[in-house]
Amino acid sequence: MGFGFPASVAETPLVDMGWGAIDKSKPVILVSGHNPATSTVVIDYLREHNLEDQVEVCGLCCTALETTRYSSKAKIVGPLSRALFFMRAGIADVIMTDEQCIRTDTPQEAAKVGSAVIACLDKAMYGLEDATEIDTDEIVRRMVDNKEQFAILDSIKAAEVAVKVAMEIAPQRKKGWLTEEEAIELAKKCTNCKMCEQVCPNLFNIGGGITEVAKGDFDLIRQQILQCIGCGKCEQECPNNVPIFKIMQTAASMETWKCRTGRGPVMDTEIRNVGAPITLGTIPGVIALVGCSNYPDIDDVADMVDEFAKRKYIVVLTGCAAMVAGMKKDKDGLTVYEKYPPDFAAGGVVNIGSCVSNAHISGAAIKIANIFAALPLRGNYEVMADYVLNRVGACGVAWGAMSQKAASIGTGFNRLGVPVVLGPHSSKYRRLFLSRKEEDDWKVMDARKREIVDTVEPAPEHLAYVCETKEKAMPMIAKLCIRRNDTPQGRAIKLNHYISLYRKYIGPGLPEDLHLFVRRDADIPLVYKKEVRAHLQEIGWQPREPIGLPTLIGTYPTKVPVDAVIH
Ligand code: SF4
Ligand code: SF4
Repeated sequence: MGFGFPASVAETPLVDMGWGAIDKSKPVILVSGHNPATSTVVIDYLREHNLEDQVEVCGLCCTALETTRYSSKAKIVGPLSRALFFMRAGIADVIMTDEQCIRTDTPQEAAKVGSAVIACLDKAMYGLEDATEIDTDEIVRRMVDNKEQFAILDSIKAAEVAVKVAMEIAPQRKKGWLTEEEAIELAKKCTNCKMCEQVCPNLFNIGGGITEVAKGDFDLIRQQILQCIGCGKCEQECPNNVPIFKIMQTAASMETWKCRTGRGPVMDTEIRNVGAPITLGTIPGVIALVGCSNYPDIDDVADMVDEFAKRKYIVVLTGCAAMVAGMKKDKDGLTVYEKYPPDFAAGGVVNIGSCVSNAHISGAAIKIANIFAALPLRGNYEVMADYVLNRVGACGVAWGAMSQKAASIGTGFNRLGVPVVLGPHSSKYRRLFLSRKEEDDWKVMDARKREIVDTVEPAPEHLAYVCETKEKAMPMIAKLCIRRNDTPQGRAIKLNHYISLYRKYIGPGLPEDLHLFVRRDADIPLVYKKEVRAHLQEIGWQPREPIGLPTLIGTYPTKVPVDAVIH
């Protein structure tokens, strides 16, 4: 609330996103990183001086999400993976960096294209001179005349300098993409040596894309840029100095998308409406897509959002995942934010906000435990996490962790009892929490009977799991929403999605572990009844009783009494 961001509002504005959305004819200020303290003051300065329509403010990464929560006139350039492309395009007159997901080469890249740079926080000053105590007009003069870059740690002063410098230098700068003809000429320098392909983490056939451009065909390079993570290795490696990024920019410059601005906390009134169906299983799950966009296909997140929203899961998003979800249009030209309602309800697609707003996702899970089980909020993390693990059908998806921070966000959710599916590059973090479902101990305490019961069912099966493709991820996500607390109706709904996603993305037949999740005949989805019954009979499945009040408290040494989970 400190920034006056909207709260208790589900229907936040839709804002423009993408390079094509930026009005290059105006002075452009690009804010980059994670701290709105440095960007909201730019908006304040523009409003106070009646300049809001004369200066374009756009953002990269989470600062973009925060800034659009503050002003719907601000634009989102895109996720972190678009940072290098956009900086090299030279569209920004001034780049203001704050902290966390900012490129270390920002001053160098900005200098190459004549963009001014202000480092706004002491966490990342790039070795620039600290101009906080220097007179504002002198800083502006030195930035305009001498092209000097500064750290300015007083955010109000930094905002004033940014606006003044942008307005002075913008009219003198040539801002634009290469023309198609220029791009074709430059692409002719490519000898298709494939050096770029060898260093590309996604193994794209960049040389092929550039060779096609040399023949006047931009289709392949347009597809490649959508999937590119913007690391810049290809261009560094090219022995012929082909300006791969500039050529890609030409291909991508006309794209615009929509993103719903972040809405902050999920409201208590919404939790009251959906808490019971979530814990009973009749809303099949809450899927939280979080973190960066470091994965081979930029469409992955939008496709997963679409699949689960269509199936009436609640889909929440934060950070760069929230942006990339809006970077795909359907056949009618609509993004998922235009297609689905913004409410925290079945079938809703909810942009919670920046990565910092992940706390509001875990907050929603905690509110469910607090409101529906009357569990105390203070000094009670163990019981809360136990409740979430056993009763709240939620699954995180950190599909493209680019930084340790994004991986640690996943771990934070694990700590609260929420399983997380990680994307293909995340195996490099070398930490997963996996079970061996047939061998492991799936005993829980039935708190009502005060008996330890072997449930057999691995629910949830893993806490941190890597999937290589979205096709493997989707049935896994549905499975990881299964909880021991599910009612027969809720379990049948969840198994319906598990089976149908398995068939849609993996292949015909039934999942090999289906029997572990069927407790009684009533758990079997109606549409698959005949087939599943035959399968269960064939493998000698035996029914078992669902657990009334499942908890792990009481199954391991802890100071928490079993009474603490009873409500
Ligand atoms: S490294 Fe350069 S010359 Fe070689 S294929 Fe790639 S773009 Fe072409
Ligand atoms: S910038 Fe894109 S195309 Fe180039 S190496 Fe990185 S991921 Fe591959």
